[in-house]
Amino acid sequence: MQGVGAGQESMATKERCSGRVRSDAWGRTTQCARNAVLTEDGEPYCRQHAPSLIAQRRARSDAAWAAKMDADSAAWAERERRRQSDARKLVAYDALLAACEAARTYLAVWQANPAWQAEADAVFAQLEAAIALARGETP
Ligand SMILES: [Zn+2]
Repeated sequence: MQGVGAGQESMATKERCSGRVRSDAWGRTTQCARNAVLTEDGEPYCRQHAPSLIAQRRARSDAAWAAKMDADSAAWAERERRRQSDARKLVAYDALLAACEAARTYLAVWQANPAWQAEADAVFAQLEAAIALARGETP
């Protein structure tokens, strides 16, 4: 125990941090044992208990937490965007394949006309490649 007499007590609090630390499981506190390194509002404090430094640590911690939340939120939004895009592609796949196959059937007629044969051949080749790709066949 420190500070028995009034004079000693006042001297001890000037030298020691005036912060309180928990001393037992029932929430009782004792004076911090560290030497004071700065004074705030007339009270001596160690670096751990100085109110301004506590506020500074809290602000840094809050900023780091907010940055982590922003990053998590952005990552979630990106995953959701990809999931919706994948779902849309899956639905479009069947429709596009059916459209390509139908177009191929009608293009065969167009291709038989000598005047349009070159254009029809080019479009036909494009369709065949897309259909083969969709079906997993090697063109
Ligand atoms: Zn302290």
